Amino acid sequence: MAKSPPEVIPTSKAKATETEEARVAIEVRNLSVTFRNGNGGLRAIQGISFCIREREFVCVLGPSGSGKSTLLRVLAGLLTPTQGEVYFYGEPLKEPRREIGLVFQKANLMPWRTALQNIVLPLELQNVPKAEARRRAMELIELVGLHGFEDTLPRDLSGGMAQRVAIARALVHDPQVLLLDEPFGGLDALTRERMGDELLRIWQARRKTVVMVTHSIPEAIYLSDRVLVFTPRPGRLRLDLPIYLPRPRTEEIRYSPAFGELARRLRAEIG
Ligand code: ADP
Ligand code: MG
Repeated sequence: MAKSPPEVIPTSKAKATETEEARVAIEVRNLSVTFRNGNGGLRAIQGISFCIREREFVCVLGPSGSGKSTLLRVLAGLLTPTQGEVYFYGEPLKEPRREIGLVFQKANLMPWRTALQNIVLPLELQNVPKAEARRRAMELIELVGLHGFEDTLPRDLSGGMAQRVAIARALVHDPQVLLLDEPFGGLDALTRERMGDELLRIWQARRKTVVMVTHSIPEAIYLSDRVLVFTPRPGRLRLDLPIYLPRPRTEEIRYSPAFGELARRLRAEIG
Protein backbone atom coordinates (compact mmCIF):
# COMPACT_ATOMS: atom_id res chain seq x y z
CA MET A 1 0.00 0.00 0.00
CA ALA A 2 1.19 3.47 -0.82
CA LYS A 3 2.14 5.70 2.07
CA SER A 4 0.32 8.99 2.39
CA PRO A 5 2.49 11.70 0.89
CA PRO A 6 4.31 13.57 3.65
CA GLU A 7 3.54 16.96 2.14
CA VAL A 8 -0.17 16.30 2.70
CA ILE A 9 -0.06 15.03 6.26
CA PRO A 10 3.31 15.64 7.90
CA THR A 11 3.89 12.97 10.52
CA SER A 12 4.52 15.48 13.27
CA LYS A 13 1.20 17.21 12.62
CA ALA A 14 -0.74 13.97 12.40
CA LYS A 15 0.78 12.95 15.69
CA ALA A 16 0.03 16.29 17.28
CA THR A 17 -3.63 15.89 16.37
CA GLU A 18 -3.76 12.33 17.67
CA THR A 19 -2.28 13.17 21.04
CA GLU A 20 -3.71 16.70 21.11
CA GLU A 21 -0.32 17.86 22.28
CA ALA A 22 0.52 21.45 21.49
CA ARG A 23 3.59 22.22 19.44
CA VAL A 24 6.83 23.14 21.13
CA ALA A 25 7.15 26.93 20.94
CA ILE A 26 10.48 27.28 22.70
CA GLU A 27 13.15 24.71 23.24
CA VAL A 28 16.17 25.45 25.40
CA ARG A 29 19.05 23.00 25.10
CA ASN A 30 21.90 22.81 27.57
CA LEU A 31 22.03 26.55 28.00
CA SER A 32 24.85 28.25 29.91
CA VAL A 33 25.69 31.92 30.25
CA THR A 34 28.96 33.15 31.72
CA PHE A 35 29.59 36.87 32.06
CA ARG A 36 33.10 38.15 31.70
CA ASN A 37 34.47 39.80 34.81
CA GLY A 38 37.88 40.39 36.35
CA ASN A 39 38.37 36.92 37.84
CA GLY A 40 37.60 34.27 35.28
CA GLY A 41 33.94 34.95 34.55
CA LEU A 42 30.69 34.80 36.43
CA ARG A 43 28.52 31.80 35.69
CA ALA A 44 24.95 33.06 35.69
CA ILE A 45 23.16 29.97 34.38
CA GLN A 46 24.43 26.51 33.74
CA GLY A 47 23.21 23.59 31.67
CA ILE A 48 19.53 24.43 31.52
CA SER A 49 17.23 22.44 29.22
CA PHE A 50 13.45 22.61 28.89
CA CYS A 51 10.62 22.93 26.38
CA ILE A 52 7.67 25.25 26.42
CA ARG A 53 4.60 24.31 24.46
CA GLU A 54 2.41 26.63 22.51
CA ARG A 55 -0.10 28.43 24.76
CA GLU A 56 1.52 27.21 27.93
CA PHE A 57 1.79 29.62 30.86
CA VAL A 58 5.10 28.99 32.58
CA CYS A 59 6.49 30.85 35.58
CA VAL A 60 10.16 30.89 36.57
CA LEU A 61 10.94 31.10 40.28
CA GLY A 62 14.31 31.30 41.95
CA PRO A 63 16.44 33.27 44.38
CA SER A 64 17.79 36.66 43.45
CA GLY A 65 20.83 36.37 41.20
CA SER A 66 19.95 32.87 39.97
CA GLY A 67 19.92 33.96 36.34
CA LYS A 68 16.18 34.38 35.71
CA SER A 69 16.54 37.72 33.93
CA THR A 70 19.53 36.37 32.05
CA LEU A 71 17.40 33.47 30.82
CA LEU A 72 14.65 35.83 29.70
CA ARG A 73 17.12 38.00 27.81
CA VAL A 74 18.37 34.90 26.01
CA LEU A 75 14.79 33.87 25.19
CA ALA A 76 14.17 37.37 23.85
CA GLY A 77 17.17 37.01 21.53
CA LEU A 78 18.91 39.92 23.28
CA LEU A 79 21.77 37.91 24.72
CA THR A 80 23.84 35.21 23.04
CA PRO A 81 24.45 32.24 25.35
CA THR A 82 27.97 31.06 26.09
CA GLN A 83 26.84 27.52 25.42
CA GLY A 84 23.70 25.75 24.21
CA GLU A 85 20.88 26.74 21.92
CA VAL A 86 17.41 28.18 21.94
CA TYR A 87 14.91 27.15 19.27
CA PHE A 88 11.80 29.08 18.40
CA TYR A 89 9.40 26.71 16.64
CA GLY A 90 12.36 24.58 15.65
CA GLU A 91 14.44 27.46 14.32
CA PRO A 92 17.59 28.62 16.10
CA LEU A 93 16.93 31.93 17.83
CA LYS A 94 19.70 34.36 16.98
CA GLU A 95 18.21 37.82 17.48
CA PRO A 96 15.07 39.55 18.74
CA ARG A 97 11.94 38.68 16.77
CA ARG A 98 8.58 40.34 16.47
CA GLU A 99 6.91 37.08 17.47
CA ILE A 100 8.45 37.44 20.93
CA GLY A 101 7.32 40.33 23.13
CA LEU A 102 9.06 41.39 26.32
CA VAL A 103 7.84 43.21 29.44
CA PHE A 104 10.13 44.34 32.27
CA GLN A 105 9.42 45.20 35.89
CA LYS A 106 9.64 48.88 35.09
CA ALA A 107 7.20 50.02 32.44
CA ASN A 108 9.87 52.26 30.82
CA LEU A 109 7.35 54.47 29.09
CA MET A 110 8.32 57.60 27.20
CA PRO A 111 7.27 60.34 29.63
CA TRP A 112 6.26 62.85 26.97
CA ARG A 113 4.07 60.39 25.10
CA THR A 114 0.50 59.50 26.08
CA ALA A 115 -0.54 55.91 26.82
CA LEU A 116 -1.74 55.49 23.25
CA GLN A 117 1.38 57.09 21.77
CA ASN A 118 3.57 54.74 23.81
CA ILE A 119 1.68 51.70 22.55
CA VAL A 120 1.83 52.92 18.98
CA LEU A 121 5.58 53.61 19.07
CA PRO A 122 6.85 50.20 17.86
CA LEU A 123 4.49 50.46 14.88
CA GLU A 124 5.62 54.01 14.08
CA LEU A 125 9.21 52.81 14.03
CA GLN A 126 8.16 50.35 11.37
CA ASN A 127 6.22 52.85 9.33
CA VAL A 128 2.89 51.10 9.77
CA PRO A 129 0.26 53.51 8.34
CA LYS A 130 -1.00 55.88 11.03
CA ALA A 131 -4.68 54.91 10.93
CA GLU A 132 -3.87 51.21 11.08
CA ALA A 133 -1.39 51.72 13.94
CA ARG A 134 -3.95 53.73 15.88
CA ARG A 135 -6.65 51.14 15.33
CA ARG A 136 -4.42 48.36 16.64
CA ALA A 137 -3.30 50.41 19.62
CA MET A 138 -6.90 51.32 20.53
CA GLU A 139 -7.83 47.64 20.44
CA LEU A 140 -5.04 46.95 22.92
CA ILE A 141 -6.11 49.87 25.13
CA GLU A 142 -9.45 48.08 25.41
CA LEU A 143 -7.84 44.69 25.91
CA VAL A 144 -5.69 45.83 28.84
CA GLY A 145 -8.57 47.77 30.41
CA LEU A 146 -7.31 51.31 29.84
CA HIS A 147 -10.38 52.66 28.08
CA GLY A 148 -10.54 56.40 28.71
CA PHE A 149 -6.84 56.70 29.54
CA GLU A 150 -5.45 56.65 26.01
CA ASP A 151 -4.52 60.35 26.13
CA THR A 152 -3.07 60.25 29.65
CA LEU A 153 0.64 60.86 30.19
CA PRO A 154 2.67 58.29 32.17
CA ARG A 155 3.10 60.65 35.15
CA ASP A 156 -0.68 60.59 35.63
CA LEU A 157 -0.96 56.79 35.47
CA SER A 158 -0.77 54.51 38.53
CA GLY A 159 1.92 51.80 38.60
CA GLY A 160 -0.61 49.18 37.57
CA MET A 161 -1.85 51.28 34.69
CA ALA A 162 1.67 52.01 33.46
CA GLN A 163 2.34 48.27 33.48
CA ARG A 164 -0.83 47.72 31.44
CA VAL A 165 0.56 50.15 28.88
CA ALA A 166 3.84 48.21 28.82
CA ILE A 167 1.94 44.94 28.29
CA ALA A 168 -0.12 46.51 25.49
CA ARG A 169 3.07 47.82 23.87
CA ALA A 170 4.60 44.33 24.00
CA LEU A 171 1.44 42.93 22.37
CA VAL A 172 1.35 45.46 19.56
CA HIS A 173 3.05 43.15 17.04
CA ASP A 174 0.70 40.36 18.13
CA PRO A 175 3.64 38.21 19.30
CA GLN A 176 3.13 34.48 19.80
CA VAL A 177 5.24 34.50 22.93
CA LEU A 178 5.12 37.00 25.75
CA LEU A 179 8.10 37.14 28.12
CA LEU A 180 7.58 39.00 31.38
CA ASP A 181 10.33 39.75 33.91
CA GLU A 182 8.78 40.37 37.32
CA PRO A 183 6.17 42.56 35.66
CA PHE A 184 4.19 43.15 38.85
CA GLY A 185 7.16 43.42 41.22
CA GLY A 186 6.63 47.12 41.83
CA LEU A 187 2.92 46.89 42.57
CA ASP A 188 1.04 46.56 45.86
CA ALA A 189 -0.40 43.13 46.70
CA LEU A 190 -3.99 43.79 45.64
CA THR A 191 -3.10 45.50 42.37
CA ARG A 192 -0.74 42.65 41.73
CA GLU A 193 -3.47 40.03 42.11
CA ARG A 194 -5.77 42.04 39.87
CA MET A 195 -3.03 42.34 37.23
CA GLY A 196 -2.50 38.58 37.41
CA ASP A 197 -6.18 38.05 36.59
CA GLU A 198 -5.91 40.56 33.75
CA LEU A 199 -2.89 38.76 32.37
CA LEU A 200 -4.76 35.43 32.48
CA ARG A 201 -7.66 37.05 30.66
CA ILE A 202 -5.34 38.41 27.96
CA TRP A 203 -3.52 35.08 27.72
CA GLN A 204 -6.82 33.31 27.17
CA ALA A 205 -8.26 35.90 24.79
CA ARG A 206 -5.13 36.11 22.63
CA ARG A 207 -3.93 32.50 23.03
CA LYS A 208 -0.34 33.43 23.81
CA THR A 209 2.54 31.42 25.15
CA VAL A 210 3.75 33.10 28.34
CA VAL A 211 7.03 32.83 30.23
CA MET A 212 7.01 34.95 33.35
CA VAL A 213 9.65 35.48 36.01
CA THR A 214 8.28 36.16 39.46
CA HIS A 215 9.43 36.20 43.07
CA SER A 216 6.03 35.26 44.36
CA ILE A 217 5.21 31.59 44.96
CA PRO A 218 1.42 32.15 45.18
CA GLU A 219 1.52 34.24 41.99
CA ALA A 220 3.41 31.49 40.16
CA ILE A 221 0.95 28.81 41.28
CA TYR A 222 -2.13 30.90 40.58
CA LEU A 223 -1.08 31.75 37.03
CA SER A 224 0.89 28.79 35.72
CA ASP A 225 0.53 25.51 33.96
CA ARG A 226 4.09 24.78 35.06
CA VAL A 227 6.62 26.33 37.41
CA LEU A 228 10.35 26.11 36.75
CA VAL A 229 12.49 26.54 39.85
CA PHE A 230 16.11 27.70 39.61
CA THR A 231 18.88 26.89 42.07
CA PRO A 232 21.02 29.72 43.52
CA ARG A 233 23.76 30.94 41.18
CA PRO A 234 24.74 29.50 38.84
CA GLY A 235 21.11 28.91 38.01
CA ARG A 236 20.29 25.32 37.14
CA LEU A 237 16.88 23.81 36.78
CA ARG A 238 16.01 22.42 40.17
CA LEU A 239 12.38 21.53 39.60
CA ASP A 240 9.85 21.53 36.78
CA LEU A 241 6.50 21.35 38.54
CA PRO A 242 3.20 20.97 36.68
CA ILE A 243 0.29 22.88 38.23
CA TYR A 244 -2.81 20.80 37.71
CA LEU A 245 -5.26 23.29 39.16
CA PRO A 246 -8.49 23.76 37.21
CA ARG A 247 -9.04 26.82 35.02
CA PRO A 248 -10.37 29.42 35.03
CA ARG A 249 -8.48 30.20 38.21
CA THR A 250 -10.56 31.97 40.79
CA GLU A 251 -10.00 33.57 44.17
CA GLU A 252 -11.22 30.40 45.97
CA ILE A 253 -8.42 28.37 44.46
CA ARG A 254 -5.92 30.31 46.57
CA TYR A 255 -7.47 28.79 49.69
CA SER A 256 -7.73 25.21 48.42
CA PRO A 257 -5.69 22.41 50.01
CA ALA A 258 -4.08 21.64 46.62
CA PHE A 259 -2.84 25.24 46.36
CA GLY A 260 -1.43 25.11 49.89
CA GLU A 261 0.31 21.83 49.12
CA LEU A 262 1.95 23.28 45.98
CA ALA A 263 3.03 26.38 47.90
CA ARG A 264 4.61 24.25 50.62
CA ARG A 265 6.42 22.16 48.03
CA LEU A 266 7.80 25.19 46.20
CA ARG A 267 8.78 26.92 49.44
CA ALA A 268 10.75 23.83 50.46
CA GLU A 269 12.51 23.69 47.08
CA ILE A 270 13.49 27.33 47.12
CA GLY A 271 14.71 27.01 50.71
P1 ADP B 1 17.99 37.17 38.61
O1 ADP B 1 17.15 37.80 37.55
O2 ADP B 1 17.63 35.74 38.88
O3 ADP B 1 18.00 37.95 39.88
P2 ADP B 1 20.20 37.84 36.84
O4 ADP B 1 19.95 37.05 35.63
O5 ADP B 1 19.83 39.27 36.80
O6 ADP B 1 19.49 37.10 38.08
O7 ADP B 1 21.73 37.75 37.23
C1 ADP B 1 22.42 36.53 37.42
C2 ADP B 1 23.83 36.83 37.80
O8 ADP B 1 24.52 37.35 36.66
C3 ADP B 1 23.99 37.89 38.89
O9 ADP B 1 25.06 37.52 39.71
C4 ADP B 1 24.26 39.15 38.13
O10 ADP B 1 25.02 40.04 38.89
C5 ADP B 1 25.05 38.64 36.93
N1 ADP B 1 24.86 39.47 35.74
C6 ADP B 1 23.67 39.72 35.12
N2 ADP B 1 23.85 40.47 34.03
C7 ADP B 1 25.19 40.72 33.95
C8 ADP B 1 26.02 41.44 33.03
N3 ADP B 1 25.50 42.06 31.96
N4 ADP B 1 27.36 41.46 33.27
C9 ADP B 1 27.88 40.82 34.33
N5 ADP B 1 27.16 40.13 35.22
C10 ADP B 1 25.84 40.06 35.04
MG1 MG C 1 15.94 39.49 37.59
